[in-house]
Amino acid sequence: KVCFFDQDMKEQAKERHKLENDLRVSLATRHVELHKAISNDEFALVYQPIVNVRNGTIHACEALIRWTHPDRGFVSPAEFIPMAEQIQIMDVLGSWILRKACADAMAWPANEDGSEVGVSVNVSPTQFVESRLLVASVKQAIEESGISPSRLKLEITESTAFATTMVSVLEELKALGCTIALDDFGTGYSSLTQLNDLPLDYVKLDQSFIRQIGSDDVAVDQHGTRLSKAVLALCASFDQIAIVEGVETKHQLTCVTDMGADLVQGYYFSKPLKMPDILTFLNQWK
Ligand code: C2E
Ligand code: MG
Ligand code: MG
Ligand code: MG
Repeated sequence: KVCFFDQDMKEQAKERHKLENDLRVSLATRHVELHKAISNDEFALVYQPIVNVRNGTIHACEALIRWTHPDRGFVSPAEFIPMAEQIQIMDVLGSWILRKACADAMAWPANEDGSEVGVSVNVSPTQFVESRLLVASVKQAIEESGISPSRLKLEITESTAFATTMVSVLEELKALGCTIALDDFGTGYSSLTQLNDLPLDYVKLDQSFIRQIGSDDVAVDQHGTRLSKAVLALCASFDQIAIVEGVETKHQLTCVTDMGADLVQGYYFSKPLKMPDILTFLNQWK
């Protein structure tokens, strides 16, 4: 498909650039007062359950950050996390996320079979640059909250630049008792060798494949199905436990469970929920 560049597109791009710049300035200003922004409740965590579809328990809930900008309102993490990384505030913000998530998780009820619900926290690749800070933050979050370390799951995304130094840091984090999940597997930086080289406990399949399953376009549906199947088989052959994210429909759920997936996350079960609502969800879950 050929598309011509027109004036509207130029305006849109300009508008988008302006918004990005405003946000960056706003975030940078907050950099100075980040703790103030945090205590002003501009940032909040929401939680999305990950379901063990074999035994019906909740495996964990993933913490996802939300930012309500004082003037602009809701800003997507997909938009501000990269900016926060760029202006080097992810160490501070990441530390707050870890502490808040662990503290919140302490209020969650256990599963009916007695197993505890884990808490999954996304860790930005830039937090691995000052790796001692990361390890210290994780330690602090565990100690302050009193959470049993095995409940804490760290979601990392591969960034090739840190691949070699990452292994030793991951070993150090695992020595604290937490587990490691490789997020967004199958896209971007992820490569097959990571399944072998990184000390992983879980691999999260990127949503892009699952999204295609059940598409009206038969070719798209087939593409998504084949890739999901292949990636799940790949995880199994590396003895990795797969987590399938982005499952929205009953049909997708049936497909991925037939493919052997045990852990499933997505709007089909629940959207990410605020603290009181995730508590209600967990209490009502059967
Ligand atoms: P992610 O870690 O891969 O998180 C999954 C994203 O998919 C979340 O978007 C979640 O709300 C969304 N999602 C979950 N189920 C479904 C579904 O069934 N359908 C669809 N269409 N989407 C679904 P969100 O919250 O906007 O986060 C986007 C990304 O921003 C995250 O991707 C993660 O990379 C980053 N992020 C979010 N919170 C944090 C955080 O606390 N720390 C760091 N470092 N990154 C974060
Ligand atoms: Mg994640
Ligand atoms: Mg993901
Ligand atoms: Mg992602």
